[in-house]
Amino acid sequence: MTTFDYDLFVIGAGSGGVRASRVAASHGARVAIAEEYRVGGTCVIRGCVPKKLLVYASRFHGEFEDAAGFGWDVGQPTFSWQKLIANKDKEIDRLEKAYQSTLDRWKVETYRMRATIVGPQRVRLADGRECSAKTILVATGGRPRVGDYPGAELAISSNEAFHLDELPKRIVIVGGGYIAVEFAGIFAGLGADVTLVYRGVEILRGFDDDLRDDLTAAMTKRGIKIVTGANIASVNSSQRGLDVALTNGATMVADQVMLAIGRVPNVAGLGLAEVGVEVGAGGAIKVDAHSRTTAPTIFAVGDVTDRVQLTPVAIREGHAFADSQFGGKPWSVDYDLIPTGVFSEPEIGTVGLSEADARAKFGELDLYKARFRPMKAVLAGRDERMLMKLIVDQKSQRVVGCHILGPDAAEMVQMAAIAMRMGATKADFDATMALHPSAAEELVTMRDKWVAPKG
Ligand code: FAD
Ligand code: NDP
Repeated sequence: MTTFDYDLFVIGAGSGGVRASRVAASHGARVAIAEEYRVGGTCVIRGCVPKKLLVYASRFHGEFEDAAGFGWDVGQPTFSWQKLIANKDKEIDRLEKAYQSTLDRWKVETYRMRATIVGPQRVRLADGRECSAKTILVATGGRPRVGDYPGAELAISSNEAFHLDELPKRIVIVGGGYIAVEFAGIFAGLGADVTLVYRGVEILRGFDDDLRDDLTAAMTKRGIKIVTGANIASVNSSQRGLDVALTNGATMVADQVMLAIGRVPNVAGLGLAEVGVEVGAGGAIKVDAHSRTTAPTIFAVGDVTDRVQLTPVAIREGHAFADSQFGGKPWSVDYDLIPTGVFSEPEIGTVGLSEADARAKFGELDLYKARFRPMKAVLAGRDERMLMKLIVDQKSQRVVGCHILGPDAAEMVQMAAIAMRMGATKADFDATMALHPSAAEELVTMRDKWVAPKG
């Protein structure tokens, strides 16, 4: 019988890899994990967690403005970017240690270095050592896509945005997806002059159109300049800063240009082709519903597979893999009704289908929409509307989309997702007692179907 150094060797200690390691070890597997940067991966080290901390920091701006309407005089608040980054880094260090101690507790051997695949059941570490493993899991995540215009090397990505020496006074952010929109809110809230440049017609392609319209309006009202139908043509460094030329002929000067134009799977130099692991367009590893690659002993989870690039999805894929391969409990991830938040200002929470996708899938729909000024905005004197939208399949009366823009939208949508997974109908929402006074009560009190205005 062949003996192996490990039952499982995991490459990449991010969301998917750490969960898979811990769960496989809990099932009795002998597990090792390699990490070339920092344990915790993108989400913990330079993604969701530090991003949310910066979002919190940026929102004080609005809070200070709103405070006056409630009788507070907060004087002239000052902000220190350096202090924020130092405190954020301290918290990330703490979390990294917590992730490492989880691995240690489960006796997962950690190699803090790069690993590559040199055989169907063999891994080589950066220091030259080799290990054998019955099964290999690739959980290497992704990295920011880089630009291909003259001067692209002068741009930063979200990776560097977390470690800038100082807050840029003027920043151009390129892209219209999650990261671009979230960082536009962060930098604007912290006091920077922000221009968002997006190649398409409207930001957040794929999201419900009402969310996109209303967020665009709200961001513009908060002073963010949104330029659509344009991309970067070139960037040059000058005494004034970075001279940015756009494809629409416009020019501007900025202190930083940040690209947030998607992420590419981390597969370069991993040795995949040599062991028969196929990748698809863009380099994402091809997997089946059980995260099996085209090589029988090699599996892959998370962003490197380009299914849905979200932390809870990577975690669940890792968990399903470990239970299935080492726990004798095979199961696979259900990708239906994944709730998601965009931590823009104001925030988006969304689950289920957009109106356009629901129409394509179900045909006739009943729509319920409420746009209202949140209670807090009235005394604050803030002219901002909240949006709540329910999309109902007319035939079954099931709620198939729930879209919210406004404070705490993500928190509300997490809860709505439970009801929707259970197959809640509009009548179930209506039968639920309202919680007053709250914004969320609007979800259970919208009685009138929305009718498109004539003309
Ligand atoms: P990762 O977490 O990227 O982990 C992969 C790890 O593998 C990395 O640590 C990497 O260093 C390591 N690695 C790569 N190659 C090798 C190698 N050859 N050897 C050893 N180690 C290697 N998702 C959300 O759900 N909510 C959010 O709010 C959110 N915000 C985000 C904000 C930003 C700025 C970014 C960039 C992403 C955000 N995401 C968010 C997405 C989320 O971070 C990812 O979906 C998630 O981290 C994917 O987990 P993973 O395990 O697939 O990969
Ligand atoms: P996204 O896929 O969300 O958005 C990428 C954006 O870049 C799109 O607007 C896209 O335009 C544009 N784009 C793509 N290629 C180019 C190009 N060559 N030139 C100019 N623009 C381009 O990616 P992000 O980088 O924002 O984030 C990566 C992923 O991380 C997200 O998809 C999400 O899954 C995850 N994430 C999740 C967060 C959350 O849950 N809150 C927060 C941050 C990230 P077009 O629309 O035309 O394709």
